Amino acid sequence: MTEDVEPGRTVPKETMGHRAATIVGEPVVEGIGRIAGFVNCYTFQAGDEVFVIDTGYRRGAQPVVRAFRSAGVPLTQVRRVLLTHHHIDHRGGAAYLLEHTGAPISCHADDVAFVDGSDRAPMSILMRLFLRPRSAPVTTALKDGDRVGELSVVHLPGHTPGEVAFYEPRRKILFSGDSVVEHDGRLTLPAPKYAANLELAVHSLDRIRSLEVEVLLPGHGVPVTKGVSGLLADLIRRAPAQFLRGPTR
Ligand SMILES: [Zn+2]
Repeated sequence: MTEDVEPGRTVPKETMGHRAATIVGEPVVEGIGRIAGFVNCYTFQAGDEVFVIDTGYRRGAQPVVRAFRSAGVPLTQVRRVLLTHHHIDHRGGAAYLLEHTGAPISCHADDVAFVDGSDRAPMSILMRLFLRPRSAPVTTALKDGDRVGELSVVHLPGHTPGEVAFYEPRRKILFSGDSVVEHDGRLTLPAPKYAANLELAVHSLDRIRSLEVEVLLPGHGVPVTKGVSGLLADLIRRAPAQFLRGPTR
């Protein structure tokens, strides 16, 4: 844990397991920073490289750009942009980051068409006018079990067809995207109206539970670093009634 590490500070070499690196964003654990906003974006140090996981909804990826600037790390250090899924709040800044870093964009194969613009995700006209979403070419279509540096891709369909989490087995860290999110100290699913297939989303929770997770870094809410398995079990217990049968029936 790195409670003593301030944003933008250099983590001592001996604690990193590899060369000293500056954490971009609010430090969560060694080598991982959180860029909080409507959506959490994360930075992940992989040796000399920095991965950005999700980009926020802004076309100019402002939260990510600001976090790099305040850490004093050039944006060109970004080597990969990993998207947990195609929703605009997670990939709105992807095209901008590609232009300014050259970093390849990866997302699951089943969400590629919504990121590269060959298909259009449903969105109200007002939202479309407000956000002016930009498509971005996807360099790597991911599938379950793929490795991206130290991270493995875990396909958790439901919220979107190609929802994925990124799992670092060494420290049991899960970047969960919107497959499971945090709200008021509990784990939950995002609002059902945003789910492509709610039943699948609930089913995917079992897959998450099959992983050993000690640090859960969700797309919404705050990182969970204690009692993850208990919180997951609690969600799995109540999810069918809360999300499938609905509270009023
Ligand atoms: Zn989403």
